[in-house]
Order: sequence, then structure tokens, then C-alpha cells
Amino acid sequence: MSITPLMPVYPRCGVRPVRGDNCHLIDEDGTRYLDFASGIAVNLLGHSHEGLIGAIKEQAETLMHVSNLYGSPQGEALAQQLVDNTFADTVFFTNSGAEAVETAIKTARAYHQHGDPDTKRTEIITFTNAFHGRTMATISASNQEKMHHGFKPLLPGFVYCEFDNLDMAKSLVSERTAGFLVEPIQGEGGIRPASQEFMDGLKVLCDEHDLMLVLDEVQCGVARTGKLYAHEHYGVTPDIVATAKGIGGGFPLGACLATEKAARGMVFGTHGSTYGGNPLAMAAGKAVMDAVANEAFLAEVTEKGERIRTRLEQFIGNYPDLFELVRGKGLMLGIKMKVESRPFFVHLRDNHQLLMVAAGDQTIRVLPPLVIGDDEIEEFFEKLSAGAASYEVPEAA
Ligand code: PLP
Repeated sequence: MSITPLMPVYPRCGVRPVRGDNCHLIDEDGTRYLDFASGIAVNLLGHSHEGLIGAIKEQAETLMHVSNLYGSPQGEALAQQLVDNTFADTVFFTNSGAEAVETAIKTARAYHQHGDPDTKRTEIITFTNAFHGRTMATISASNQEKMHHGFKPLLPGFVYCEFDNLDMAKSLVSERTAGFLVEPIQGEGGIRPASQEFMDGLKVLCDEHDLMLVLDEVQCGVARTGKLYAHEHYGVTPDIVATAKGIGGGFPLGACLATEKAARGMVFGTHGSTYGGNPLAMAAGKAVMDAVANEAFLAEVTEKGERIRTRLEQFIGNYPDLFELVRGKGLMLGIKMKVESRPFFVHLRDNHQLLMVAAGDQTIRVLPPLVIGDDEIEEFFEKLSAGAASYEVPEAA
């Protein structure tokens, strides 16, 4: 048998972390890496946050899991915290980002089908280079063919529009449109923030045509950009938001947030999840929200993000053949390269023990834990400078 026990769907590298220490990961051979990937925007409190660990330990000792057939004081408390701090009136908890997006899609469709099961308004307009997850609905929602290959037929009901192209979005709205699904800042697509005009324009279209504005904030949400949710930068109020990754700080947790109006179709029996919202996940989510949902924490993220961005912009000027620009918000930054970004990120990882993540559009992502300190910022620039100075662009790149 040649297949590995772990289904071989990931191109796993030689780094094999066994322990975390704040903003560092320690490999099984003892090598220490600076973690500027954070499990792809997950470990926002680093790897040894006492509040998060304590909350999970305490809840594990008290009650780990009960069915959603029972009342949930823990779920009610976290849902209330999210409602108090966001546009939302109601929350459905999931275990992952893809499930949160699935719930968001169902909520948007149910909005229109509620009271009119035969409505034509079932199509969701989505955007090029988006990433919404790996379930059938979420791969169908993305135009990226590499994710479709081998899994056809896709689910119907998604219409692709060029990202940030408002005129095209306008032209695609029809009597079949239910809403838009968009990442305000594309993550996997290369840390690409939507323009203000685009977000404003989508909101106007939604208001004019009674469409659902559904935001995928799985990567850009939960304080990553210096606001609790990235749409706050735009001053645009969504109807539905999918959130995950950072919200559990490393514990698998996601959620679909919605206004009362948007959730009108999500009535008894329409949706569910065995694990979604279980007490252990709620304890993790509450510890994260307690830490990040306050002005002081968000202001620190903004300040650190601006500091890193300014230094990155100076730094890339030293290597005009390698780097093109820096983009993003807060501590969700991307360095767009003039050459393929993957070999450079491998070089940083293997030769300088700096963990980052490659993304689309020749970008490497700068996604440190939000609790990063001055020492780690210095270490980052030392490693990045040494990495750029020693980098030889591979022939094929
Ligand atoms: N949406 C966005 C914007 C993401 O970045 C991701 C994961 O990278 C997902 C959805 C899917 O989340 P998960 O992998 O938790 O299912």
C-alpha cells in the first residue's frame, strides 16, 4: 500500500511542530520558528495565552459537549457578546469557516424563499479569486478551477463576477439574484482589500433590489485588521457575515452572524449541527472575545499593523527586483512580489526559521498573532532582511 494513513491532500512540508510558545513554534527536532502565519490567521492570541488555555481547561473539566436539544447558557452568552459588539441580531455557531459560509448561503436563500418557496431569487453573485472553503457549496461559490477539478458536478446557483468590478456586478443583477457573497479583503486571493466604491456600490445594489449582502470574514474578521470585523473599515453594514478562524483562537469554531430581517427564513428545523456551539467551543470563543473585543486591543493591532507596514514599505525599496508593494489592513498584510512568492516563503521557512504563508497573485502573507510584541517584530525584520539578502530567485520562477 503506498497511500499514507493521513489522506495525502496537503503538500506537507518538513516542519513538524509539537509545541507552541507565544509567537513561536517548536519543531519535533527542537528547531524554533517565528510564527508569522498563525495557523493561517487563527492563533490570534499566540500559542500560550493563559486566558484561552484556562477557559478551555476549566470548561473541559466541567462539561465538554451536550446536544443542541438542550438549552445552552454558554451559547447564549457568546451569541449575546457577538450581538452586542457587531451589526448582528442573531448567531448560528459552526465548527469551521466553510460551514459558516454554508450557513450564510442558506440564510441568504432562505430569506427569499421564506413565504415564497417558488421565488426565482436563488442565485448568489460571487467574485473571482475568492476562497470560501472546501465543501461542495463553497467550492462552487469560487471560480477557481483548481478546486473544482475531480469534484464535478458543482452546485448550481452561483454567478461569478470580477472582484472589485462594480459595473460588472451591477450588470449581473437579475430577477434571479438572491445576494452577493464577498470577502471584504481577499485572503487566499492575495490580501486584496475591496475598494470603498465597490463595497458602497454593492450595498446600494442590495438596498435597491432587496438583496442579501453576505460577507465572508473568515480570514479578515475577529480583530485581525484592527476592527472587530473588516467591514467596519468601510462603514458598510452587511446582512450576513461568516466568521471563523480567529474566533476560536485555535479551537475549531465558526459562526454565521445575521440581522433579524436576514434570518427570517432560519426557523425551527431548517439548520443544525451536532457539535456547533458546544460548551467547550463556547468557552474558547468567549475567552477570545473577552481579550479582543475592546478598543484598547483593537488600537494596539492598528498601531502594530501601521508600524510593520511602514517598515515593510521601506524594506521592499531595498529589493526593487523582488518586491512590488505592501497591501492589507492592520495585521493582515501581504507583500506582493515581482517573482513567484512560494519559493521565497520556502526559503524563509527552511533557511531563516520564519513561517509565513504564500497566497495568490504572487503574494506572501504577514499574519502574526495579534499579541505580537516589539521583540518579535524586530526578529521578523531581522529574518526577513537576512532572507531577502540571501535569496536567489530560482531559474524557473
Ligand atoms: N473563507 C475564507 C475567506 C477563508 O480564508 C477560509 C479558509 O482559509 C474559509 C472560508 C474556509 O474556512 P475553513 O478552512 O475553516 O473551512
